[in-house]
Amino acid sequence: MIQIQNLKKSFRTEEVETLALNSVNLKVETGEFVAIMGPSGCGKSTLLNIIGMLDNPTDGAYFFNGEEVGGLKENQRTKIRKGNLGFVFQSFNLIDELTVYENVELPLIYLNMKKSERQQKVKEVLERMKIAHREKHFPQQLSGGQQQRVAIARAVVTNAKLILADEPTGNLDSKNGIEVMNLLTELNQEGTTIIMVTHSDRDSHYAHRVINLFDGQIVTESQNKPFEVNAQ
Ligand code: ADP
Ligand code: MG
Repeated sequence: MIQIQNLKKSFRTEEVETLALNSVNLKVETGEFVAIMGPSGCGKSTLLNIIGMLDNPTDGAYFFNGEEVGGLKENQRTKIRKGNLGFVFQSFNLIDELTVYENVELPLIYLNMKKSERQQKVKEVLERMKIAHREKHFPQQLSGGQQQRVAIARAVVTNAKLILADEPTGNLDSKNGIEVMNLLTELNQEGTTIIMVTHSDRDSHYAHRVINLFDGQIVTESQNKPFEVNAQ
């Protein structure tokens, strides 16, 4: 699904240039669950954002399902993102002015899905994420664990093939953190590819493979459990 070659990303602010990623090579197979770890500032979010086509690399190649996407313009990236990719963030990033139902419905509106079809999809995914009883509530009326379940619902309601999660349990207590990890694992077992940034050893054990970044480079990689392409 993902093939990244000699990827570099630098940020320039006034006089200072930061090399956030320095020659990253990475392959991720469809159906894999990969964790990215490493100290603060080592480039984890930058890498995840480039994989998620929220940002472009400065140099190197990025192939998504065989298509070179590293140099695409924002409107072309948006087209690929829609319906293919779902995002989950540490701070949930729900829209406070919209209800739970409306937050999860939004990606389907962007896909021009009919209202009756949207309703069925949203109801189904809210049930699955065990948050249907809160559909008329606003994000601020929910606990952190509930908000993250809504965010996962929003990420998967389009049948996204790839979920990108940036420290999804970072703001949760361990009970809610484990619940979120179990939901992500379930989605992965049904075939969704997951790439997750985490600081937590507990969370990294859910992944097939762990990649350690340091100063913008992949320094070590370890296989937690076997992943077989054909088993998916
Ligand atoms: P991590 O997620 O591992 O904590 P980041 O990917 O957020 O690290 O950041 C990697 C490096 O790139 C840091 O030095 C950070 O300050 C810098 N950086 C990230 N985003 C930007 C940006 N938009 N502008 C300038 N520098 C940035
Ligand atoms: Mg980060």
